[in-house]
Order: sequence, then structure tokens, then C-alpha cells
Amino acid sequence: MSPFPYRLGVHVSIAGGIEKAVDRARELGCSAMQIFSRNPRGWRASPLSLPVARAFREKVKQFNLDPVVVHAPYLFNLASGDRELYRRSSKELWEDLKRAEQLGARYAVTHLGSAGEQGAGTGRNRVVEALKRILERGFRGTLLLENSAGGGNQVGASFEEVAQIMGGVGDDPRVGFCFDSCHGFSAGYDFRSPEQCLKMVKELDRTIGLARLKLIHLNDCSGAPGSHRDRHQHIGKGEIGLTGFRSLLGQEVLRKIPMILETPKEGPRDDRNNLALIRALLESGDSWDRNEPLRPIDQGKG
Ligand SMILES: [Zn+2]
Ligand SMILES: [Zn+2]
Repeated sequence: MSPFPYRLGVHVSIAGGIEKAVDRARELGCSAMQIFSRNPRGWRASPLSLPVARAFREKVKQFNLDPVVVHAPYLFNLASGDRELYRRSSKELWEDLKRAEQLGARYAVTHLGSAGEQGAGTGRNRVVEALKRILERGFRGTLLLENSAGGGNQVGASFEEVAQIMGGVGDDPRVGFCFDSCHGFSAGYDFRSPEQCLKMVKELDRTIGLARLKLIHLNDCSGAPGSHRDRHQHIGKGEIGLTGFRSLLGQEVLRKIPMILETPKEGPRDDRNNLALIRALLESGDSWDRNEPLRPIDQGKG
């Protein structure tokens, strides 16, 4: 019996057809799921047919999966100084948002990209301009900006910077935040003790605002805090470790947020094992922040 209705899923493959992803999530006992709506390493995407999109939505509903999250391809770079790459990235991100809309996904999530040699300020401005254009063109659902590990001049390694970008687009309610535990940890947020984790949560609240945190990517990390290494690891097998995840999920405000695993898929049992560990932590009832409650999070629609 679980003490509260958490939402937990994995990033599932769309191999063999996008609707197959829903079956995969279901087989793993997920209550949420994440997919790529197309090949994440290529630019080309064939349009989704109406019957395929409908079949997907119906299955999602039948299995009560919520949220469905569409992850934008890795190729996109909204901070790039390469004009063509920049133009293409913002155009294709909008296309991806429309695909997410067709699939009835509540959230689409994107990385912000890397500014290259031109520095953080320039990169941030580029991201803001790209997002403004995308918001103007319009879409349904919520676009989540994901924090980065910060390697190679990646934009969005600090909550402060993500908050600046959100402010740059006028704090549009269609823009939210996705916290990736591996990226955050390797960017320097060491949350392995309850005290450190509470400090991080407070910083998140002060900058971005907890109300805008809509999704958590749960990944262990091969890199140390501040290493800026974006190498996902199985839960408990990386530098964060089970202690770190216990501290993270001990924050009541965090475990109410939908969670998606993006852990490695090296063997057939990997997803099951990682999910089982997280479920055990969530259901153990451990909570470290009882004495210092934070205000509840609005998890309403949109
Ligand atoms: Zn992630
Ligand atoms: Zn990553």
C-alpha cells in the first residue's frame, strides 16, 4: 500500500510504433511515461497520422497514464551561435510541441542547449528569443525547461539562470521546470543529506518557484558534484547513491511531483530494478522535512 498517490514512470522506447510505448509503460506498472515523438538523434520526422495519434491517446487513457511527457530531440540547441542550427532548433521544437499536442501529452521537455564560446549571457538571450517565438506561434500543454549539467557552456545549470530565462519570456504559464537529478548533482547541487536537499529545494523555490516545478527526472550520476558530467547511472549505482535518493524523496514537496527515470537500459531487468528501488524509497514513508514544511505545490491542470 502506498501512503500517497505518487506518479512514477520511465522513458520508454517507441520502437515498432509510438503506441507500443504505452504498452511498455503499462507492463512496467508505470503511472506516468516519457517518450521521444521521433528519432532523437535525427532531424527528420514523419508526421503523426490521425489514427495513430488517436490510438495512442486512447491507450494512455485506458491505462491511466498521467503525465505523458514528450522529450524533444537532443540535437536541438536553442542557444547556438550557428544561425542555421539555431533557426532549425526553434522551428523543430515548435513542431515537437505540436506533436506532443496531437498525442495529448501534458508536458514537453527540452534541454536549453549550449552557447559555445560566446558565453552564458549571449546563450541565455538566444534561448529567450527562441522561446518567445515558439510561445507566439502557440501550442497546447506546458513546455518544461530542463536544468543542465553545465558542461561545454550548456545553458541552465543553475536555478538562477533558468529563472532568468523564464522571466525573459514574461513568466508565461505555459513554461515550467523539469529538475534532472543527475544534471543538478553534477552541476554542483549536492543534495545527499536531508539538510543539503532542503537547502536546494529552498533555492529552487526562491529562484524558479516550486509552483513551476512540474517534473523530476530521476537519474543517478557517474560524475561528482561540480564535475559537469552528464552520465546517467542506475539508481543507487552512481555518486548520488541510495542515500542521496532517500534524501531527495524525503522532501515531501518533491515526491508529489511526477517522476520519470532516464536510467540506462543495458539489460531487460534494468527498468524494473530502478523502478523497484524508487518505489521502495517512496513507500517507506521516510520523510525528513516534517519539521520544516514548505508550502504545497499546485499540481492543477496545465
Ligand atoms: Zn533528463
Ligand atoms: Zn542527461
